[in-house]
Amino acid sequence: MAARRQRTVITGGAGFIGSHLCDYFVEAGHEVICLDNLLTGSGSHIEHLLGREDFRFIDYDVTGYIHVGGPVDNVLHFASPASPVDYLEYPIETLKVGALGTHKALGLARDKGARFLLASTSEAYGDPQIHPQPETYWGNVNPVGPRGVYDEAKRFAEALTMAYHRTHGMDTHIARIFNTYGPRMRLYDGRALPTFFRQALKGEDLTVYGDGSQTRSFCYVGDMIEGIGRLLKSDEHEPVNLGNPDELTILELAREIIELTGAKSKIVFEPLPTDDPKVRQPDIAKAKRVLGWEPTTPRSEGLKRALDYFREQVAQGAQNG
Ligand code: UDP
Repeated sequence: MAARRQRTVITGGAGFIGSHLCDYFVEAGHEVICLDNLLTGSGSHIEHLLGREDFRFIDYDVTGYIHVGGPVDNVLHFASPASPVDYLEYPIETLKVGALGTHKALGLARDKGARFLLASTSEAYGDPQIHPQPETYWGNVNPVGPRGVYDEAKRFAEALTMAYHRTHGMDTHIARIFNTYGPRMRLYDGRALPTFFRQALKGEDLTVYGDGSQTRSFCYVGDMIEGIGRLLKSDEHEPVNLGNPDELTILELAREIIELTGAKSKIVFEPLPTDDPKVRQPDIAKAKRVLGWEPTTPRSEGLKRALDYFREQVAQGAQNG
């Protein structure tokens, strides 16, 4: 008798990373159930999957009780506003989906005996005093600052996930996801990379916050999805950093995007937001060791693919795409 097809629930499945995960698991032969209330996600990211018999989209806010009929093998909790502009606009929703949403998603996984994977974040390290950041670093987070709504929700989500693992013996996994980029980022999500592309492609000046000396390390989305897929199947229950250690300053990123697009744009400097981390770079020794994973897409290649996508979005006049 043929084995039953795996059923995989992805919360936030219409988001940037979530929608790539929907593609990945459909491709792997799973039946995918995508839950999203489209607060910051977009139906256009999963439109191509609608109508397939192995894909289902349910417009749902996962802070409420989650019911899915039938067996479930995997639950991936990716629902949350994730760009600083978004979670500052939706602070309470961000706290609720990180806390109540994680509780509901864990409850579903427990009920079904499913594997669970939490999308956590490099923000768990806050404005780090150790560089690069290993998983053993406990972080430097301001709980009451504007970014605290995201950072603390994700830290709570990690604590809850470990409690379910320890108390109920559940097969849980925690990905600490560092800055990720690629197709399906929203032009107006407020993050540096899509903002710089949009500004360059429209011939506007690029807005660098502070003096641009703060660093980030950007991982191409295809590499990230592969890392998440491996972590889900691994025996590792403690947090694992997923990201690309390729670090650069935000000013360097702005210059690279101007060069790549051939724009005539200038760089203008604007005030640095409160609690903006000064440095960020993943230590991925653990991911290499336990998952045999590391990113393979060089920045030059990833930025070219991102450019193709953003060019199309700008040409279409996307406001939210
Ligand atoms: N940033 C910038 N210009 C922008 C948007 C962001 O200089 O138009 C800066 C931001 O202050 C931060 C870095 O770029 O230092 C990365 O910000 P992003 O919003 O991409 O995400 P973060 O890594 O801070 O979560």
